[in-house]
Amino acid sequence: MAALWRRRERFLGASGLCRTVRALSGKNEYDLLVIGGGSGGLACAKEAAQFGRKVAVLDYVDPSPQGTTWGVGGTCVNVGCIPKKLMHQAALLGSALKDAQHYGWSISQPVHHTWKVKYFNMKGSFSDPHTIRGLTKAGKETVVTAENIVIATGGRPKYPTHIAGALEYGITSDDLFWLKESPGKTLVVGASYVSLECAGFLTGIGLDTTVMMRSIPLRGFDQQMASLVTEHMESYGTKFLKRCFPTKVEKLESNRLQVTWKNTDLGTEERDSFDTVMWAVGRAPDTKTLNLETVGVKTNSETGKIIVDAGEATSVPHIYAIGDITEGRPELTPTAIAAGKLLARRLFGQSSELMDYDNVPTTVFTPLEYGCVGLSEEVAVQSYGSDNIEVYHAYYKPLEFTVAERDATQCYMKMVCLREREQRILGLHFIGPNAGEVIQGFALGIKCGATYPQLMKTIGIHPTCAEEITKLHITKRSGLDATVTGC
Ligand code: FAD
Ligand code: NDP
Repeated sequence: MAALWRRRERFLGASGLCRTVRALSGKNEYDLLVIGGGSGGLACAKEAAQFGRKVAVLDYVDPSPQGTTWGVGGTCVNVGCIPKKLMHQAALLGSALKDAQHYGWSISQPVHHTWKVKYFNMKGSFSDPHTIRGLTKAGKETVVTAENIVIATGGRPKYPTHIAGALEYGITSDDLFWLKESPGKTLVVGASYVSLECAGFLTGIGLDTTVMMRSIPLRGFDQQMASLVTEHMESYGTKFLKRCFPTKVEKLESNRLQVTWKNTDLGTEERDSFDTVMWAVGRAPDTKTLNLETVGVKTNSETGKIIVDAGEATSVPHIYAIGDITEGRPELTPTAIAAGKLLARRLFGQSSELMDYDNVPTTVFTPLEYGCVGLSEEVAVQSYGSDNIEVYHAYYKPLEFTVAERDATQCYMKMVCLREREQRILGLHFIGPNAGEVIQGFALGIKCGATYPQLMKTIGIHPTCAEEITKLHITKRSGLDATVTGC
């Protein structure tokens, strides 16, 4: 960071000067200008600075409709991965406290959670292909020119504005981590990463939490695993309103929010009241205010995301885009960071290495974590045909669950392999404690083209949950009981 901050230039007051510098010399003031100081933008700027280039970063957070705002760092550190993982940990500690009693600890009752929040703060748009106009909160304008420009402005949560009261009364993940008070009884609408993770930790800290799901959980993930995730959440106390979609949010005299929804299974209209309604219905980029049309940067007309090539270049060669703002890329911090670093190396470090988006591992931090890398069983079957796929699977019981008498029904793993002689591993899926830690290690093997026989030669670490992966031997095809018994 130090290098970045040393080289980082503040834009305030430089406006007229920049224009004059460029007008007189015909040169741009900066080698690289990054719009967006989040995971991808900062990584790219920092890497470029390492090559001795003159780099500038422009970051600005528009307040959420509820007025929440934060500083530099982007989604991950302010309203994403980091606060989410800390809340997840807070919830896990609650479960650990319950377990502790089984291990002989006496804990004074009742154990309950107290809501605690820690607080942390020029919006850029194109004037011409090398010139960015920055605007401060106070409305002060600054103009900056650069040889290369990287757009790394990420996305923000969507609001279902067609639903009466949604914008007025609802919050999103942009607000959740900055609430001064506990959200209380909460309805979370949506059924993907953000929804399930947030609902998971809210349940874990003892709040009455309901997920409203209009279709399937975790679209795009292996659906057998996704069902186990929601099954576990239900047994953990999260309520689910399945195949329901909200139609109205109203504020009652009691200040509670009354939500009306349609239950598509029963064809009925139902309602309940909540202290908080949180929308987790996906994220969208704000590309309109960047003034991209003026400079000819092409976007996808449906998603608004920027279209890039394998080298992250947009339709304008010296303008690049990385991270969540780009079309067809994973919306994950490590991919944004890696793409940013590699781009800076290609621009300034005489490298030609492209970002490889294959076999990106990920974890859904639900109360029982789900980590995976590679193909889902469905996609493997679609791509290769079911006759050419072998799935090894196991239901296992984490050792730490035994003393605490925790139910391990959803602790499950499966490995999707090609059925030919080498049995290359196409996908690995793991539900259980520390799934992120487990999958991160195996991801290296899979990235290197690991095969099932090679995995069988890998010695486990005993006693761990991850060792069960090295022992997978029951195929789904065999129909045999896949429950692990004994060591
Ligand atoms: P961002 O980090 O969003 O940064 C973009 C920055 O640009 C922001 O500061 C924004 O305010 C600023 N900006 C926007 N427009 C302008 C403009 N015109 N001028 C100047 N500045 C501008 N990913 C994981 O890998 N693991 C996780 O566990 C995980 N958990 C998540 C949990 C939640 C609740 C959410 C919402 C996301 C989570 N993600 C997670 C996704 C991850 O946060 C994003 O993929 C990542 O932050 C994207 O980085 P980025 O650089 O593309 O954009
Ligand atoms: P997604 O786009 O993945 O999911 C949106 C969810 O909302 C879906 O379940 C969708 O249902 C539902 N939905 C959409 N519109 C409506 C509506 N009008 N009414 C009711 N439900 C609706 O968005 P997320 O915000 O969950 O995640 C965004 C990205 O952030 C993820 O793709 C992920 O890459 C990243 N992320 C990563 C995390 C991690 O690494 N652990 C954690 C959190 C986020 P349907 O399927 O029917 O369309």
